[in-house]
Amino acid sequence: MKKIAVLTSGGDSPGMNACLRAVVRTAIYHKIEVMGIRHGYDGMINDEFIVMDAKSVANIIHRGGTILKTARSKEFLTLEGRKRALANLQKHKIEGIVAIGGDGTFRGALEFSKISTIPIVGCPGTIDNDLIGTDFTIGYDTAINTVVEAVDKIRDTAESHDRLFFVEVMGRDAGLIALRGGIGVGAESIIIPETKTDIEYLIKRLENGRKNKSSKIIIVAEGDEAGGAFKIAEQVKTRLPDYDTRVTILGHIQRGGNPSAMDRVNSSRMGFAAVEALMQGKSNVMVGIIDKNIEYTPFENATKHLQELNPDLMRMVSILSL
Ligand code: ATP
Repeated sequence: MKKIAVLTSGGDSPGMNACLRAVVRTAIYHKIEVMGIRHGYDGMINDEFIVMDAKSVANIIHRGGTILKTARSKEFLTLEGRKRALANLQKHKIEGIVAIGGDGTFRGALEFSKISTIPIVGCPGTIDNDLIGTDFTIGYDTAINTVVEAVDKIRDTAESHDRLFFVEVMGRDAGLIALRGGIGVGAESIIIPETKTDIEYLIKRLENGRKNKSSKIIIVAEGDEAGGAFKIAEQVKTRLPDYDTRVTILGHIQRGGNPSAMDRVNSSRMGFAAVEALMQGKSNVMVGIIDKNIEYTPFENATKHLQELNPDLMRMVSILSL
């Protein structure tokens, strides 16, 4: 293998830069040329290819976001768009691709492989941790730490005013940020899409738990079936009008910030392994870390299912909260 390309795609996540750095430096070590593709699949279609050298990834390991920039590409969803992307890859003589992104990125890679023989290896860059084949995705640990830091601050004001706060965190389909973040802040309840939301039960627990603690934090994953923090707060407020209720949506701060040490180390390991996987002839697989070891999971399997929630964690949450 003489030349590879690397791109970041889908939602950005802290640690993508660390992964990119590892890809570029591993390739250079093995005397493989590297091109960066800006703006994800859009850049593949619009020929935004740039030469990467060891220096181009200097001083980025600690930076959030992605220096290559990213995009959600509508054109890549079309065959026409993918054909243009292939023509550009052929023009630049690219023999392998490292795609850093989430499940959509890998679904796109699979679709692309129907018209292209260029091998693709993925690194799981998404804060959601919603992929099979890795214990932790790139950015997940940082996002949880951001949630914990923000909610600790909310707890101070909640406690001072005896308030009930509903804090909405990211997670359209997966409640893993809510679950871990909620455990980390000692939330009184955690509401996630994977479990049925029982408002009556929540109200009963809030009534019963009043004597234990004057402030209360309820963490709500944005994708919960009950309709997010505002809707749930409204229902609770009608039934428990004495509670001084507030809602905070954490939003995009959860995507940004310097990656945690764990994200930097995991991203570096996965970027390093992705290049070596291409050299070994692997394709259409995602690199992951399972029980501390590097593992490769075919894209089909990585994107098919949500991670199952650990039943021990769920049981613990119900015992420790309220
Ligand atoms: P995140 O988990 O952070 O949202 P993601 O990789 O899942 O990241 P998406 O926007 O879902 O983000 O996917 C990235 C891009 O992959 C899409 O914008 C689209 O261009 C491409 N893609 C997704 N699904 C397909 C598909 N079935 N066919 C072709 N391309 C696809």
